[in-house]
Amino acid sequence: MIPVLDLKREYQELKDEIDAAVSRVLASGGFVGGAEVEALEGELAAYLEVPHIITLGSGTDALFIALRAMGLGPGDEVITSPFTFIATIEAIQHVGATPVLVDIDPQTFNLDPQGLGAALTPRTRAILPVHLYGQAAPMQAIVEFAQAHRLSVLEDAAQAIGARYCSQGAGPAWQRVGTIGMAGAFSLYPTKNLGAYGDAGFIATRSPAIAEESRLIASHGQAARYHHVRPAGYTSRLDALQAAILRVKLPHLEAWNARRRAIAHAYSEGLKGVVQTPYEAPYALHIFHQYTIRHPQRDRLAEHLKARGIGSSVHYPLPAHLQPAYRDLAPEGSLPEAERAAREVLSLPMHPFLEEAQLEAVLEAVRSFG
Ligand SMILES: *Cc1c(COP(=O)(O)O)cnc(C)c1O
Repeated sequence: MIPVLDLKREYQELKDEIDAAVSRVLASGGFVGGAEVEALEGELAAYLEVPHIITLGSGTDALFIALRAMGLGPGDEVITSPFTFIATIEAIQHVGATPVLVDIDPQTFNLDPQGLGAALTPRTRAILPVHLYGQAAPMQAIVEFAQAHRLSVLEDAAQAIGARYCSQGAGPAWQRVGTIGMAGAFSLYPTKNLGAYGDAGFIATRSPAIAEESRLIASHGQAARYHHVRPAGYTSRLDALQAAILRVKLPHLEAWNARRRAIAHAYSEGLKGVVQTPYEAPYALHIFHQYTIRHPQRDRLAEHLKARGIGSSVHYPLPAHLQPAYRDLAPEGSLPEAERAAREVLSLPMHPFLEEAQLEAVLEAVRSFG
């Protein structure tokens, strides 16, 4: 079986360093926050070229806490994509705000900025674009719309650590995604391109005010120990063990993302004219968290691959508004591109340790689908 992801293989590659890092933390007696976490925050800040990193318990917490730190609350509307992992929607609801869904661009699977105008109401306060599969959303159009209507922008960069975005025209060249809006929310869930060995996430921001507010919220609203300056505080912090493990992995991230890009390139060459391969927008440096093809007979193709020992997965089989819990967000048929994508997408095995022979086997199996 060729799995979609191989985390055992990754651990084998780094075993000595990771085991040493874990032993170091166990011997230190400090398990939440502390020196390892501070060091990781500094290293992530350098990697992402952003001044403030706030590590947290998960990517979902990063979304929720960033929205709260940005002042979003009941009565506010937040525009986002229906074609995402459900945490994007949950975070908006957790601050008491209302998600407003805008359909996706079928080429990139990201929020289509042409839909923003129709979604705008007097209650709109923010846009939450998702950099799906590791490819930047069209940030220039989103940020310009946000500026014109005085909206905040929070990026869901959970799948896109290390991806870059290049604004067309006058803006800065090739910024890291998650550092373009007011804040970016990242996940360090084990399956993400940089994964902890458990739940973890962080907020990146250029705003000292959002950074400070996020730290307050994530630690019981306390400014100093046992001095609580914000009501309804929360607890979401990174374990020292996870920080030490992530510090071993972070120096490999650029090479791992480059390897993913090389695999994606080989897949796309080998599948030209066979299936619809991913589109890399001219403004995006895609890091291929997922390599996702489209096929009108997606389920049959997945069965065909399985019978040949090739793993695959569907991200996502339902858009948010067709989930049983979220039927009230939008009627069926109103977001046709997201609905069609959910029927057609299939993600192929993609991780930095995929071998040439495995890659060839995947290509062979997809090509033999009649
Ligand atoms: C993984 C993911 C999240 C949530 O991150 P967790 O660390 O699992 O809480 C949010 N949004 C998207 C798009 C994701 O892929």
